[in-house]
Amino acid sequence: MQRKGMLGLAFGLALVAGSAAAQELNVYSARHYPSDEQLFAGFTKATGIKINLIEGSAEQLVERIKREGKSSPADVLVTVDAGNLWRAQQAGVFQPVKSEQLEKLIPANLREPAGHWFGFATRARVIVYDKAKVKPEQLSTYEDLADPKWKGQVLIRSSGNIYNQSLLASLIAAHGPEKAEAWAKGIVANMARPPQGGDTDQLKAVAAGEGTIAVSNTYYLARLASSSKPEEKAVADKLGVFFPNQNDRGTHVNISGAGVAANAPNKDAAVKFLEYMASPEAQRIFADANNEFPAVAGVEPAAVLKGWGSFKVDPIAVAKYGENNPEAVKVMDRAGWK
Ligand code: FE
Repeated sequence: MQRKGMLGLAFGLALVAGSAAAQELNVYSARHYPSDEQLFAGFTKATGIKINLIEGSAEQLVERIKREGKSSPADVLVTVDAGNLWRAQQAGVFQPVKSEQLEKLIPANLREPAGHWFGFATRARVIVYDKAKVKPEQLSTYEDLADPKWKGQVLIRSSGNIYNQSLLASLIAAHGPEKAEAWAKGIVANMARPPQGGDTDQLKAVAAGEGTIAVSNTYYLARLASSSKPEEKAVADKLGVFFPNQNDRGTHVNISGAGVAANAPNKDAAVKFLEYMASPEAQRIFADANNEFPAVAGVEPAAVLKGWGSFKVDPIAVAKYGENNPEAVKVMDRAGWK
């Protein structure tokens, strides 16, 4: 259907008016990054398939697809965090898809084994510290942040946040629920203030001297570091990045991902969309426009991330974050993590 030039456009319109309808794809997206417009526009340019975008939180969109049932127009659900993707899968809103291309390009630990969802970019959850007050030699692991020596210094968002639930889920996988609970209690005891705001707010609080250490996803710091606003750049300039657990399992990473909806009316286009997300062009958009690490091997991260150096990644299958999510929520609750 993709036609180029004036003549092509005329033929295209004639085709639409005649037999075949123009191809469309209904994308339900819970990603909250402005850069995604580039991904959607890139897909339309590459395939001629128009995207109808429906936005909401992961929870809202999953509920909506469930409510719409068999007549749901949803073709693809896009969201962040394997915990959210797993919940969507549990709710039955995905169908498994087979794609040789996706299986070849996306590492096995970053996708659901049966093809219910695939990760297209990763983010590391790192320790960010006040360079004037903390030396990197004092930092080591996530586990160490629960040590009483950091009392009153740790800034981290609430337990309702899926990023922290998935971090907890990874600690449950590494140590079991009891040790994970002791860790969560230690973190609560070390908090500089009751949890409030998102990751960017934790970074700003460290720069403002409310504490000395924050836990944040990498792209938030990269965004501040490459900001055109001097006050945001000034925040980033005060902060250092530390990749935890380099001497054992590696740093906790999570994904941005998507799957094909269970009753997708445009299934072929939906699979094409997932394959486009793994293309070199889309991988560059994830990297350059939102400072995420490309999931596909051989695609370089953005310069600001490369500047932080390479690091060892926890190789755990991210589906584990979902499996351990209910336990993680309970553990944080018992620990009194607001
Ligand atoms: Fe985010």
